[in-house]
Amino acid sequence: MTGLSDSFQRPINYLRISVTDRCNLRCIYCMPAEGVPLMSHEDILTYEEICTIARVAAELGINKVRLTGGEPLVRSGLGELIQMLAQIDGIDDISLTTNGTLLGRYAAELKEAGLHRVNISLDSLKPDKFELITRGSLALDDVMAGIEVARSVGLDPVKINMVVMSSVNDDELIDFAASTMDERWHVRFIEFMPVAGVSPSASHFISVSEMRKRLEVLGELQPCLPDVGNGPAKYFRFPYAKGTVGFITPVSEHFCFRCNRLRLTADGRLRLCLLAEDEIDLRQSLRGGASSAELKQLIETAVANKPRRHWLGAGRVPHDRFFSQVGG
Ligand code: SAM
Repeated sequence: MTGLSDSFQRPINYLRISVTDRCNLRCIYCMPAEGVPLMSHEDILTYEEICTIARVAAELGINKVRLTGGEPLVRSGLGELIQMLAQIDGIDDISLTTNGTLLGRYAAELKEAGLHRVNISLDSLKPDKFELITRGSLALDDVMAGIEVARSVGLDPVKINMVVMSSVNDDELIDFAASTMDERWHVRFIEFMPVAGVSPSASHFISVSEMRKRLEVLGELQPCLPDVGNGPAKYFRFPYAKGTVGFITPVSEHFCFRCNRLRLTADGRLRLCLLAEDEIDLRQSLRGGASSAELKQLIETAVANKPRRHWLGAGRVPHDRFFSQVGG
């Protein structure tokens, strides 16, 4: 097999890059009420450092990168980073995960810089619920405007990610799904991962099979064939709908056996799994003057130790970082 693969013969071609641990929202499922201790400016990789790592990763076989955070759009000059990444040989897909609050302002510039696609996290269409989930944000209108601007500049299809939590926002499942009938929205329902320290608990978990049952009132969900997307979501469509409905089952039906991902944290750790604490410190090596060959060797060794599956299956949760500090 050419390219990068781990000891379970999984091809690894996808790097999620967290550009900041800062976020302008404080979603209840992502971080604790008191927030998280912030990294210092010097701790965070510069854009040049990110690109050095991305270049080495691309030489090893990474061809897709996704920018995330924190909220990636709160870091200034993101367009410059995208432009730099777009020039790296071998990287042919650059995407962004954002809460959408600042997208209206930046979508055109990011598209121009070389961004291909965007996923927007949106967990409620109701202002009061949006405020509750984000712990106080009044920016729902900005997110909705951001979605429209993203589409109008050609960041299409826009995918909307909703983390579904029982007794929090599960009453909006049908509204989100119904939005795919008339709009080219691609809504993805994600199972809530009950990680340590966040306020919704395991009792707020609701499985994809339960979600699907509740959506039956809207009609039959027909699988999108051939299989669309190349990530963990399984896609369906209601008859005659313009958009699609996707389901992501990290808890009820893990997809670790086909995981193709690595994560780079804002402070330069290469993390091998979202839900396991295994990391290596690339920043220290980089700042210590490691050559490309040495960085390559470090990445290859780390990938060889990528865990077979995430910890939730064994009833454990990582305690080292919140999702806002990894990038989801
Ligand atoms: N700020 C950006 C955003 O909102 O998309 C990027 C960072 S956010 C940590 C990335 C993704 O992680 C989001 O789609 C979010 O919904 C997801 N996420 C965070 N905590 C989660 C949890 N406990 N369970 C499921 N998904 C979670």
